[in-house]
Amino acid sequence: MPPTKDSNNKHNLTPTEDKTLGGKINIPAFQKKLKVEIDINLLAEKIINGDRSALAQGITLIESKKSEDQIQAHSLIEQCLPFAVSSMRIGISGSPGVGKSTFIEALGVDYIKEGAKLAVLAIDPSSSIAGGSILGDKTRMQRLALEEKAFIRPSPAGKTLGGVARNTREAIMLCEAAGYDTILIETVGVGQSEYVVESMTDLFVLLIQPGAGDELQGIKRGVVEMADLVIVNKTDGDNLSLAKQAKVAYTQALHLFPPKENGAIVKVLMCSALDKTGLKEIKEEINYQLSASKSTGYYLKKREQQQLFWFEETLRNELLDKFFKNPEVYNKKLALEKDIMENHKSPFTAAESLLKVFFKDQEQK
Ligand code: GDP
Repeated sequence: MPPTKDSNNKHNLTPTEDKTLGGKINIPAFQKKLKVEIDINLLAEKIINGDRSALAQGITLIESKKSEDQIQAHSLIEQCLPFAVSSMRIGISGSPGVGKSTFIEALGVDYIKEGAKLAVLAIDPSSSIAGGSILGDKTRMQRLALEEKAFIRPSPAGKTLGGVARNTREAIMLCEAAGYDTILIETVGVGQSEYVVESMTDLFVLLIQPGAGDELQGIKRGVVEMADLVIVNKTDGDNLSLAKQAKVAYTQALHLFPPKENGAIVKVLMCSALDKTGLKEIKEEINYQLSASKSTGYYLKKREQQQLFWFEETLRNELLDKFFKNPEVYNKKLALEKDIMENHKSPFTAAESLLKVFFKDQEQK
C-alpha cells in the first residue's frame, strides 16, 4: 500500500518504543547500528507522516556507505519524493564565530512562530578534511532544538565533501517529504563548501562581523560574489560603529562584482542575532527576493539546473567509484604505475589502456 499523509501524527515515537519498524521489537539506541532489516515502506510512511525519529533514521540510512543500505536508501527516497512539500531552501555561511548558530536559532524560532516547519542541515568541510568538526557539536542551537517543529541535523562526518554534499541533498528531499517547508543549510565560509550549498539552495546568505573590510575579513572573493544577501551580525552595543564600517566596505565591494544572473541587487543588512534585532527586515528581504525570482521564472530555472547538476554529479561519482573499485582495474593500475615511473609508458597511454580494461570487463558482465 502506498504511504499516505496523516496530519494527526504527533511525532511521539522514540526508537525504543518503535515496535513495528523492521518487524523487530524494542531496538535500544546503542544497538541501532547492528544489522536490522528495515521495512522501507513503513519507514517512508512514518517520514511522510512527520515522525522525526524516522526522519533521522532515514538520513542515517542515506549516510551509510554500505551498498545494501544504499539500495534501501534509494528506495526510501523514491517513495518519499512524491510527498515532498514545496520548501524555501536557504544557505547560510560565514566564518567560525560570526554567529551562524545564534542567527539560525533566532531566525528559526521566528519562522516557527509564523507557522513554519523548519529543518537545519549542515555541511561541514572540516569533518572531511581534518576529521574534526567546526559545526558539528551538539550543544549548538539548544533553544531551537526544543521546538517540536524543528529538526536539526549536524553535518555527516568523515566523508569527502562530495559525499557530504550528496547526503545533504538527499536529506533535503526526506525533510521535504516530512513536511519541512523551511530548510536552512549552514556552512563555514572557508571555500569549497559554499559552492556545494549554493547548488542546493534558492538563496545564499553570507554573515559577516562588524569591523572594516580588512581584506574583506579573509572571506574568499568567490564566496562574497555568490551571496544574494550579506548580513552584518553583532550590530549591538559597542559594535555599532564597526558594524556600519563593515556595511560600507561590503556595499562598495559588492558594486565591483558583475551583476547577479537574476538582476537582483545584493543588499547589506544589519542585525543582532543575540538581541534579535533586524530579523524582520531580513525576512522581508528574503521574501522579496524569492517572490521576485519566482515571478521572473529564475527560481524555477535555478532549481532545474540544480537537479541536472546533481544528476551529473551522481553519474560522475558512481562511475568513478565503479571504476576504482573494479578488481581488474585495481591490479592493472598497479602494473601501469610501475611502467609510468620507469618511463616505459606515458601517463596518457597508460590511462587509455586502463579505461579499455574497465570497459572490456563491463562488456563481459
Ligand atoms: P558560529 O561559529 O558562526 O556558529 O557562531 P556562534 O553562533 O556560535 O557565535 C559565536 C559567539 O558570538 C558566541 O559567543 C555568541 O554568543 C556570539 N554572538 C552571536 N551573535 C551575536 C550577536 O548578535 N551579538 C553579539 N554581541 N554576540 C553574538
